[in-house]
Amino acid sequence: MKVLVINAGSSSLKYQLIDMENEHVLAKGLAERIGIEGSQVSYEADGKEEIVVKEKLEDHGDALNIIIKELLDPEVGVIDKIEEIDAVGHRTVHGGEEFTESVKIDDKVIQKMEEYSDLAPLHNPANLMGIRAMQELLPDVPEVAVFDTAFHSTMPDYAYIYSIPYEFYKDYDIRKYGFHGTSHKFVALEAAKMMGKPIDELKIITCHLGNGSSIAAIENGKSIDTSMGFSPLAGLVMGTRSGDIDPSIIFYLNSKGYSMQQLNNILNNKSGALGISGVSSDFRDIEKAANEGNERAILTLRKFCYRIRTMIGAYVAAMDGVDCIVFTGGIGENSFLDRAQICRKLSFFGVKLDRYRNREETGTRFISTDESKVKVMVIKTNEELMIARETIEHIND
Ligand code: ADP
Repeated sequence: MKVLVINAGSSSLKYQLIDMENEHVLAKGLAERIGIEGSQVSYEADGKEEIVVKEKLEDHGDALNIIIKELLDPEVGVIDKIEEIDAVGHRTVHGGEEFTESVKIDDKVIQKMEEYSDLAPLHNPANLMGIRAMQELLPDVPEVAVFDTAFHSTMPDYAYIYSIPYEFYKDYDIRKYGFHGTSHKFVALEAAKMMGKPIDELKIITCHLGNGSSIAAIENGKSIDTSMGFSPLAGLVMGTRSGDIDPSIIFYLNSKGYSMQQLNNILNNKSGALGISGVSSDFRDIEKAANEGNERAILTLRKFCYRIRTMIGAYVAAMDGVDCIVFTGGIGENSFLDRAQICRKLSFFGVKLDRYRNREETGTRFISTDESKVKVMVIKTNEELMIARETIEHIND
C-alpha cells in the first residue's frame, strides 16, 4: 500500500510517497513559491539525486501535476501507474472541537474545515487548497485529514478552558486547542516502545522544540495538557513567537501608538528568540553568538531553557509524576547544550543526564543514565510517517 503525504502551506507544498509495506520513503520533495515569481518543485527519489523543476506554478494543482509526472517518470519515477497511489494523507492544522481524530475527507469535512478557517486563517485555507487540488487530480483516491489539534482533544475541561467569561468559549470557540499533535503522538508512541511498556501505563512529557515549540503532558497515552493554546502563539519562547506574555503588555503598547495589526506582527514574527537576542531566530546562530560572549544571546538561551524547565515541572504536577521526558524537533534533537541546561535543575524529580550519551551520541536514544529514575530520550520525529499511518487507519471510516 502506498500513501502520498501532503503538507500544503499557502505558497508551498511538501510531499512524500511512502510504501507502507515497510514504511519506506519512495520519493519526497517540496514545491515552493506557488503563485509567486520563481516557483519550483524539488523531487528526490530514494537513492537518486535530487532534481529541481523550475516552472511557473499558478496554484497547488500545477505543483501536484508536476509531482505526479515525476512520480511516474520512466527514469526517476517510483511508480508505473497512478493507481499505485492507494491513499492521500493531508496534514491539516485546525480541527476545532469537531475532529478528535483523523478523518476520511468528504464534503462535510471540508465544510467544517472551512468553518474553522477563522480559527487558523494562515493554515486551514492553505490545507484546503491542497485537498481540493488533489481531489481534482485523483478523484477516486481516498483522502484523510490528519489534524494537528486532534491528539490534544483528550485534554480535560479545566486544562483547556481560559479564565475569561465562559460565553466566549460557547459563542466564539475560544479555548486551548494545542498543536504539533502529530509529532507529540509519534514520539510518545516511540518512547513507549523504548520503555518496553504499553503507552497506557506511562506518564510522558514530550518537548517538540523547533522553529515553533510546544510541550505536552501525555498520561496513559492521552494528551492531558500542552503549552500551545488557542493559537500556536502561546506557550514557550519560539524562534519568532513570544509564547506566553502578560496580555496587559498588548494594551499598554497599543496606548503607546502600536496598532493591533503591528502588535500581531511583532508577537508572531519579531519576538521570541529573535526578539530577545536581536541576533537571529535560528538557534544555531544564537548558540554561536552565545559562545562568542553575546550577552543577549546568552539571556535568550537561559530564558528558552528556563521556560521549558518550569513547564516540565508543571506537567510533572499535572500528572503526579513522570516516567520519561522526550526531546524532539530541530533543537530538541540536536542541541545538547539546551538539553543539558533544561535538565540541570530537574534532579529533584530524579532526572540524571548521561553526559556522553547527551553530547557525543546522535539519533534516537536514551540520554539519561541507567540509574536515572526518570528516563530522558532524544527521538527523531517523523510527522509524515505518522500521517501515513493515520491515513491507513482511517481510510475506511
Ligand atoms: P520547524 O519547526 O520549522 O519544523 P525544525 O524542527 O527543523 O523547525 O527546527 C529548526 C530549529 O532547530 C532552528 O532554530 C535550528 O537552528 C535548530 N537546530 C537545528 N540543528 C541544530 C543544532 N545542531 N544545534 C542547535 N539548534 C539546531
